[in-house]
Amino acid sequence: MRVYSIPMRTRFRGITRRQGVLLHGPAGWGEFSPFAEYGPPETARWLAAAREAARDGWPAPVRDRIPVNVTVPAVAPERAHAIVRASGCRTAKVKVAERGQDDADDIARVEAVRDAIGPGGLVRIDVNGAWDVDHAARMIRTLDRFGLEYVEQPCATLEELARVRLLVDVPIAADESIRRAEDPLRVRAAGAADVAVLKVQPLGGVAAALRVAEATGLPVVVSSAVETSVGLAAGVALAAALPELPYACGLATLSLLEGDVVRDPLVAEGGFVPVRRPEVDEAALRRFEIEDEGWRRRVADAHASLEA
Ligand SMILES: [Mg+2]
Repeated sequence: MRVYSIPMRTRFRGITRRQGVLLHGPAGWGEFSPFAEYGPPETARWLAAAREAARDGWPAPVRDRIPVNVTVPAVAPERAHAIVRASGCRTAKVKVAERGQDDADDIARVEAVRDAIGPGGLVRIDVNGAWDVDHAARMIRTLDRFGLEYVEQPCATLEELARVRLLVDVPIAADESIRRAEDPLRVRAAGAADVAVLKVQPLGGVAAALRVAEATGLPVVVSSAVETSVGLAAGVALAAALPELPYACGLATLSLLEGDVVRDPLVAEGGFVPVRRPEVDEAALRRFEIEDEGWRRRVADAHASLEA
């Protein structure tokens, strides 16, 4: 068991360093990197995902590369334009509704992104649950002038998502509403979304996430939890094993970290991430390796919860 701590290039979820544990087993390396606010029983699923990677491996891929989106943070329009141009991606996800900004900031950013990606590209927005129903309906209509592929989590609750979904023509994706294996079924039952955003670690592994995807019957977008290439490879494996993959995935997140623990990181090129499993590199890992900092305890607690 090895503990890593990698500086983030930009602050994300209020953190400036990404930390986690790497486990090694007969099938390879696995990553356990729940965010600090998660305790057991949630972390048990994150551990199950790491164990699956280390012990069992993943289902066979049905494709050899995964289309990915570039993520545009809540930056000024010129910067947003430059980020999209530099990415080579044909799909952009734009963060909107940032605290301290207003609707005009979001409109200017989405307009700049549409301009940068061209008429043939796809633009989706991510609201992280920040709008109420009226605000969401109004802004989605306004921003759809620039052509929206879908809107990720416009409101916080399932009930609000379902109401927004009836008010606008743009498809709705559920992200924060799906954090546990039973959540996608609730999303579907509530009529709250057209698309499910799935992450491997919170759902307990690739095989578990595949079962969730099948059970929901919704098209799936695989997203990372901002992991190293070790954790990212599990997301890539899920995206590679899904029978259908109609949307670009949120797996181009390695650029958020200042480094990685492998020699040949899973970076996006030309809008795609290759389907492969990079090997941990001892020298790279040693650069970011730290002492325990409570991680042994978190693994032990997750393990106890998993066995309970
Ligand atoms: Mg999201």
